[in-house]
Amino acid sequence: MTFTLDADDPVFVAGHRGLVGSAIVRRLRAGGHRNLLTATRDELDLRDQAAVRSWLEEHRPRAVHLVAGTVGGILANSTRPAEFLYDNLMIHANVVEAARHVGVEKLLYLGSSCIYPRLADQPIVEPALLTGPLEPTNEAYAVAKIAGIKMCDAYRAQYGCDFVSAMPTNLYGPNDNFDLQSSHVLPALIRKFDDARLAGETQVTVWGTGRPRREFLHVDDLADACVFLMERYDEPGPINVGYGEDVAIAELAEMVRDVVHPEAEIDFDTSKPDGTPRKLLDSSRLQQLGWQPSIPLAQGVASTYEWYLEHVAPRAVG
Ligand code: GDP
Repeated sequence: MTFTLDADDPVFVAGHRGLVGSAIVRRLRAGGHRNLLTATRDELDLRDQAAVRSWLEEHRPRAVHLVAGTVGGILANSTRPAEFLYDNLMIHANVVEAARHVGVEKLLYLGSSCIYPRLADQPIVEPALLTGPLEPTNEAYAVAKIAGIKMCDAYRAQYGCDFVSAMPTNLYGPNDNFDLQSSHVLPALIRKFDDARLAGETQVTVWGTGRPRREFLHVDDLADACVFLMERYDEPGPINVGYGEDVAIAELAEMVRDVVHPEAEIDFDTSKPDGTPRKLLDSSRLQQLGWQPSIPLAQGVASTYEWYLEHVAPRAVG
Protein backbone atom coordinates (compact mmCIF):
# COMPACT_ATOMS: atom_id res chain seq x y z
CA MET A 1 0.00 0.00 0.00
CA THR A 2 1.35 3.46 -0.86
CA PHE A 3 1.64 6.06 1.89
CA THR A 4 1.58 9.64 0.64
CA LEU A 5 2.45 12.75 2.59
CA ASP A 6 1.31 16.26 1.74
CA ALA A 7 3.84 19.06 1.96
CA ASP A 8 2.16 20.41 5.11
CA ASP A 9 1.79 17.10 6.94
CA PRO A 10 3.83 17.04 10.16
CA VAL A 11 6.83 14.70 9.89
CA PHE A 12 9.10 14.10 12.88
CA VAL A 13 12.77 13.44 12.13
CA ALA A 14 14.12 12.01 15.39
CA GLY A 15 17.88 12.59 15.35
CA HIS A 16 17.92 15.49 12.87
CA ARG A 17 21.39 16.71 13.84
CA GLY A 18 23.11 13.43 13.04
CA LEU A 19 24.60 12.14 9.81
CA VAL A 20 21.36 10.43 8.75
CA GLY A 21 18.79 12.78 10.25
CA SER A 22 20.35 15.87 8.69
CA ALA A 23 20.35 14.13 5.28
CA ILE A 24 16.67 13.20 5.65
CA VAL A 25 15.85 16.81 6.53
CA ARG A 26 17.73 18.00 3.39
CA ARG A 27 15.94 15.41 1.26
CA LEU A 28 12.46 16.22 2.60
CA ARG A 29 13.03 19.98 2.23
CA ALA A 30 14.29 19.46 -1.32
CA GLY A 31 11.08 17.53 -2.00
CA GLY A 32 9.01 20.52 -0.84
CA HIS A 33 8.12 19.50 2.72
CA ARG A 34 7.18 22.47 4.81
CA ASN A 35 6.27 20.93 8.17
CA LEU A 36 9.28 19.12 9.56
CA LEU A 37 9.28 18.56 13.30
CA THR A 38 12.64 18.38 15.05
CA ALA A 39 13.92 18.66 18.60
CA THR A 40 17.47 19.07 19.83
CA ARG A 41 18.81 16.86 22.63
CA ASP A 42 18.40 19.78 25.05
CA GLU A 43 14.76 20.23 24.07
CA LEU A 44 13.90 16.52 24.17
CA ASP A 45 15.92 13.67 25.68
CA LEU A 46 14.66 10.69 23.69
CA ARG A 47 15.71 8.36 26.53
CA ASP A 48 13.09 10.02 28.76
CA GLN A 49 9.83 8.13 28.35
CA ALA A 50 7.50 10.78 29.82
CA ALA A 51 9.17 13.57 27.84
CA VAL A 52 8.89 11.66 24.56
CA ARG A 53 5.24 10.85 25.16
CA SER A 54 4.25 14.41 25.97
CA TRP A 55 6.32 15.85 23.07
CA LEU A 56 4.54 13.56 20.60
CA GLU A 57 1.14 14.28 22.20
CA GLU A 58 1.80 17.96 21.66
CA HIS A 59 3.18 17.79 18.10
CA ARG A 60 1.16 14.85 16.67
CA PRO A 61 3.28 13.86 13.65
CA ARG A 62 1.67 11.86 10.85
CA ALA A 63 4.96 10.16 10.10
CA VAL A 64 8.23 9.56 11.95
CA HIS A 65 11.75 8.87 10.71
CA LEU A 66 13.33 7.19 13.75
CA VAL A 67 17.02 7.72 13.02
CA ALA A 68 18.24 8.87 16.43
CA GLY A 69 20.70 6.90 18.50
CA THR A 70 24.08 6.60 20.12
CA VAL A 71 26.40 5.48 17.32
CA GLY A 72 30.11 5.06 16.76
CA GLY A 73 32.92 3.16 15.14
CA ILE A 74 34.67 0.01 16.18
CA LEU A 75 36.51 1.54 19.16
CA ALA A 76 33.53 3.37 20.67
CA ASN A 77 31.32 0.35 20.13
CA SER A 78 33.65 -2.05 21.86
CA THR A 79 34.55 0.20 24.81
CA ARG A 80 31.14 1.78 25.64
CA PRO A 81 28.73 -1.18 25.35
CA ALA A 82 26.53 -0.04 28.25
CA GLU A 83 25.80 3.34 26.64
CA PHE A 84 25.17 1.76 23.26
CA LEU A 85 22.66 -0.66 24.76
CA TYR A 86 20.90 1.66 27.20
CA ASP A 87 20.60 4.74 25.00
CA ASN A 88 19.44 2.88 21.93
CA LEU A 89 17.00 0.53 23.68
CA MET A 90 15.40 3.48 25.46
CA ILE A 91 15.19 5.67 22.36
CA HIS A 92 13.63 2.93 20.22
CA ALA A 93 11.19 1.82 22.89
CA ASN A 94 10.09 5.35 23.82
CA VAL A 95 9.60 6.62 20.29
CA VAL A 96 7.86 3.48 18.99
CA GLU A 97 5.46 3.28 21.95
CA ALA A 98 4.68 7.02 21.91
CA ALA A 99 4.15 6.85 18.13
CA ARG A 100 1.55 4.10 18.64
CA HIS A 101 -0.03 6.08 21.48
CA VAL A 102 -0.58 9.21 19.38
CA GLY A 103 -1.58 7.29 16.22
CA VAL A 104 1.42 7.94 13.97
CA GLU A 105 0.44 6.49 10.58
CA LYS A 106 3.92 5.53 9.36
CA LEU A 107 7.22 5.09 11.15
CA LEU A 108 10.52 4.22 9.49
CA TYR A 109 13.06 2.76 11.90
CA LEU A 110 16.70 2.68 10.88
CA GLY A 111 18.85 -0.24 11.98
CA SER A 112 22.34 -1.19 10.87
CA SER A 113 24.00 -3.96 8.88
CA CYS A 114 25.79 -5.07 12.09
CA ILE A 115 22.53 -6.78 13.15
CA TYR A 116 23.51 -9.72 10.93
CA PRO A 117 25.66 -12.64 12.11
CA ARG A 118 29.42 -12.07 11.94
CA LEU A 119 29.89 -14.89 9.46
CA ALA A 120 26.70 -14.51 7.46
CA ASP A 121 26.92 -15.59 3.81
CA GLN A 122 27.81 -12.62 1.58
CA PRO A 123 26.10 -10.64 0.20
CA ILE A 124 23.85 -10.70 3.27
CA VAL A 125 20.15 -11.35 2.70
CA GLU A 126 17.47 -10.23 5.18
CA PRO A 127 16.55 -13.79 6.34
CA ALA A 128 20.10 -14.12 7.78
CA LEU A 129 18.88 -12.15 10.82
CA LEU A 130 19.35 -14.19 14.04
CA THR A 131 20.85 -17.21 12.33
CA GLY A 132 24.28 -17.00 14.05
CA PRO A 133 26.52 -15.23 16.59
CA LEU A 134 27.10 -11.47 16.26
CA GLU A 135 30.42 -9.66 15.78
CA PRO A 136 31.71 -9.08 19.35
CA THR A 137 33.07 -5.54 18.69
CA ASN A 138 29.56 -4.22 18.07
CA GLU A 139 27.35 -6.73 19.80
CA ALA A 140 25.75 -4.26 22.23
CA TYR A 141 24.70 -1.92 19.44
CA ALA A 142 23.49 -4.83 17.31
CA VAL A 143 21.36 -6.27 20.12
CA ALA A 144 19.67 -2.89 20.65
CA LYS A 145 19.08 -2.55 16.90
CA ILE A 146 17.62 -6.06 16.65
CA ALA A 147 15.29 -5.21 19.54
CA GLY A 148 14.15 -2.16 17.54
CA ILE A 149 13.30 -4.31 14.50
CA LYS A 150 11.40 -6.75 16.69
CA MET A 151 9.52 -3.85 18.30
CA CYS A 152 8.36 -2.56 14.92
CA ASP A 153 7.26 -6.08 13.97
CA ALA A 154 5.51 -6.63 17.31
CA TYR A 155 3.64 -3.33 17.05
CA ARG A 156 2.60 -4.28 13.53
CA ALA A 157 1.42 -7.74 14.65
CA GLN A 158 -0.36 -6.70 17.84
CA TYR A 159 -1.60 -3.18 17.07
CA GLY A 160 -1.59 -3.03 13.26
CA CYS A 161 0.94 -0.17 13.19
CA ASP A 162 2.58 0.51 9.81
CA PHE A 163 6.11 0.63 11.26
CA VAL A 164 8.94 -0.50 8.95
CA SER A 165 12.66 -1.22 9.46
CA ALA A 166 15.45 -0.37 7.03
CA MET A 167 19.02 -1.71 7.45
CA PRO A 168 21.66 0.53 5.92
CA THR A 169 25.21 -0.50 5.20
CA ASN A 170 28.18 1.63 6.42
CA LEU A 171 27.28 5.28 5.81
CA TYR A 172 29.30 8.46 5.26
CA GLY A 173 28.81 12.05 4.16
CA PRO A 174 28.22 15.58 5.50
CA ASN A 175 27.73 15.93 9.28
CA ASP A 176 29.57 12.71 9.98
CA ASN A 177 31.58 12.34 13.19
CA PHE A 178 35.26 13.04 12.49
CA ASP A 179 36.50 12.42 16.05
CA LEU A 180 39.19 9.74 15.86
CA GLN A 181 38.14 8.01 19.08
CA SER A 182 34.52 7.48 18.14
CA SER A 183 34.23 7.78 14.35
CA HIS A 184 33.78 5.18 11.66
CA VAL A 185 36.57 4.38 9.27
CA LEU A 186 35.79 6.68 6.34
CA PRO A 187 35.63 9.97 8.26
CA ALA A 188 38.57 8.79 10.40
CA LEU A 189 40.68 8.34 7.27
CA ILE A 190 39.73 11.76 5.91
CA ARG A 191 40.75 13.26 9.23
CA LYS A 192 44.01 11.32 9.51
CA PHE A 193 45.21 12.10 5.97
CA ASP A 194 44.23 15.76 6.28
CA ASP A 195 45.95 16.14 9.68
CA ALA A 196 49.09 14.56 8.18
CA ARG A 197 48.91 16.90 5.16
CA LEU A 198 48.64 19.96 7.41
CA ALA A 199 51.44 18.78 9.69
CA GLY A 200 53.71 18.01 6.71
CA GLU A 201 53.87 14.34 7.71
CA THR A 202 53.89 11.47 5.21
CA GLN A 203 53.04 8.49 7.43
CA VAL A 204 49.38 7.64 8.12
CA THR A 205 48.31 4.74 10.32
CA VAL A 206 45.28 2.65 9.44
CA TRP A 207 43.84 0.32 12.08
CA GLY A 208 43.83 -3.44 11.61
CA THR A 209 45.21 -5.41 8.66
CA GLY A 210 43.48 -3.44 5.89
CA ARG A 211 41.92 -6.70 4.69
CA PRO A 212 38.35 -6.41 6.05
CA ARG A 213 35.85 -5.47 3.39
CA ARG A 214 33.10 -2.91 3.85
CA GLU A 215 30.34 -1.47 1.67
CA PHE A 216 29.86 2.31 1.83
CA LEU A 217 26.72 4.26 0.97
CA HIS A 218 26.55 8.04 0.79
CA VAL A 219 24.03 9.34 3.30
CA ASP A 220 22.17 11.36 0.63
CA ASP A 221 21.47 8.07 -1.14
CA LEU A 222 20.27 6.59 2.15
CA ALA A 223 17.98 9.57 2.81
CA ASP A 224 16.47 9.15 -0.63
CA ALA A 225 15.91 5.45 0.11
CA CYS A 226 14.25 6.28 3.46
CA VAL A 227 11.78 8.64 1.79
CA PHE A 228 11.15 6.03 -0.92
CA LEU A 229 10.57 3.25 1.64
CA MET A 230 8.26 5.39 3.72
CA GLU A 231 6.06 5.76 0.64
CA ARG A 232 6.31 2.29 -0.88
CA TYR A 233 7.22 -0.28 1.75
CA ASP A 234 4.81 -1.84 4.22
CA GLU A 235 6.12 -5.16 5.54
CA PRO A 236 7.55 -6.68 8.70
CA GLY A 237 11.25 -7.54 9.00
CA PRO A 238 14.28 -5.57 7.87
CA ILE A 239 14.93 -4.38 4.31
CA ASN A 240 18.56 -3.83 3.29
CA VAL A 241 19.81 -0.51 1.90
CA GLY A 242 23.26 -0.84 0.36
CA TYR A 243 25.37 0.40 -2.51
CA GLY A 244 25.99 -3.05 -3.98
CA GLU A 245 29.82 -3.13 -3.96
CA ASP A 246 32.40 -3.41 -1.21
CA VAL A 247 36.08 -2.46 -0.92
CA ALA A 248 38.95 -3.60 1.28
CA ILE A 249 39.89 -1.08 3.98
CA ALA A 250 43.36 -0.84 2.38
CA GLU A 251 41.75 0.16 -0.95
CA LEU A 252 39.57 2.71 0.81
CA ALA A 253 42.67 4.16 2.51
CA GLU A 254 44.36 4.52 -0.90
CA MET A 255 41.27 6.18 -2.32
CA VAL A 256 41.16 8.72 0.53
CA ARG A 257 44.93 9.22 0.34
CA ASP A 258 44.72 10.02 -3.39
CA VAL A 259 42.08 12.70 -2.74
CA VAL A 260 43.50 14.24 0.44
CA HIS A 261 47.28 13.75 0.62
CA PRO A 262 48.72 11.84 -2.37
CA GLU A 263 52.30 11.89 -0.96
CA ALA A 264 51.32 9.95 2.16
CA GLU A 265 52.32 6.38 2.90
CA ILE A 266 50.04 3.98 4.68
CA ASP A 267 50.98 1.66 7.51
CA PHE A 268 48.77 -0.75 9.38
CA ASP A 269 48.42 -1.02 13.17
CA THR A 270 47.52 -4.67 13.58
CA SER A 271 47.12 -4.27 17.35
CA LYS A 272 43.76 -2.64 16.50
CA PRO A 273 40.75 -4.88 15.75
CA ASP A 274 39.61 -5.76 12.24
CA GLY A 275 36.03 -6.41 13.30
CA THR A 276 33.83 -8.44 11.03
CA PRO A 277 35.76 -9.75 7.97
CA ARG A 278 33.21 -8.65 5.38
CA LYS A 279 29.93 -6.76 5.35
CA LEU A 280 28.16 -6.51 2.00
CA LEU A 281 24.39 -6.34 1.88
CA ASP A 282 22.18 -7.97 -0.69
CA SER A 283 19.86 -5.07 -1.53
CA SER A 284 17.94 -6.80 -4.30
CA ARG A 285 14.59 -6.52 -2.51
CA LEU A 286 14.92 -2.73 -2.47
CA GLN A 287 16.11 -2.71 -6.08
CA GLN A 288 13.09 -4.76 -7.10
CA LEU A 289 10.87 -2.11 -5.53
CA GLY A 290 12.54 0.34 -7.94
CA TRP A 291 15.26 2.15 -5.95
CA GLN A 292 18.95 2.53 -6.90
CA PRO A 293 21.83 4.47 -5.32
CA SER A 294 23.37 7.23 -7.41
CA ILE A 295 26.60 8.40 -5.70
CA PRO A 296 29.74 6.35 -6.53
CA LEU A 297 32.24 5.97 -3.69
CA ALA A 298 35.05 7.98 -5.32
CA GLN A 299 32.69 10.90 -5.95
CA GLY A 300 31.29 10.66 -2.40
CA VAL A 301 34.75 10.63 -0.84
CA ALA A 302 35.73 13.76 -2.80
CA SER A 303 32.56 15.67 -1.89
CA THR A 304 32.76 14.61 1.77
CA TYR A 305 36.34 15.85 1.91
CA GLU A 306 35.21 19.19 0.49
CA TRP A 307 32.53 19.35 3.17
CA TYR A 308 35.12 18.48 5.81
CA LEU A 309 37.45 21.25 4.64
CA GLU A 310 34.65 23.77 4.83
CA HIS A 311 33.02 22.72 8.11
CA VAL A 312 35.37 20.70 10.28
CA ALA A 313 39.01 21.34 9.35
CA PRO A 314 38.99 25.04 10.38
CA ARG A 315 37.93 24.01 13.90
CA ALA A 316 40.32 21.07 13.99
CA VAL A 317 43.37 23.20 13.24
CA GLY A 318 42.26 26.44 14.85
P1 GDP B 1 32.67 -1.47 11.59
O1 GDP B 1 32.22 -1.48 10.16
O2 GDP B 1 31.56 -1.64 12.56
O3 GDP B 1 33.80 -2.45 11.84
O4 GDP B 1 33.19 0.00 11.95
P2 GDP B 1 34.37 0.98 11.54
O5 GDP B 1 33.93 1.85 10.42
O6 GDP B 1 34.78 1.68 12.80
O7 GDP B 1 35.61 0.06 11.08
C1 GDP B 1 35.66 -0.58 9.84
C2 GDP B 1 37.04 -1.16 9.60
O8 GDP B 1 37.98 -0.09 9.36
C3 GDP B 1 37.63 -1.98 10.76
O9 GDP B 1 38.31 -3.09 10.21
C4 GDP B 1 38.61 -1.00 11.38
O10 GDP B 1 39.67 -1.64 12.09
C5 GDP B 1 39.14 -0.30 10.13
N1 GDP B 1 39.82 0.98 10.38
C6 GDP B 1 41.03 1.32 9.89
N2 GDP B 1 41.41 2.53 10.34
C7 GDP B 1 40.40 2.99 11.13
C8 GDP B 1 40.22 4.18 11.87
O11 GDP B 1 41.06 5.08 11.91
N3 GDP B 1 39.02 4.31 12.53
C9 GDP B 1 38.06 3.33 12.50
N4 GDP B 1 36.92 3.54 13.17
N5 GDP B 1 38.24 2.17 11.82
C10 GDP B 1 39.39 2.00 11.14
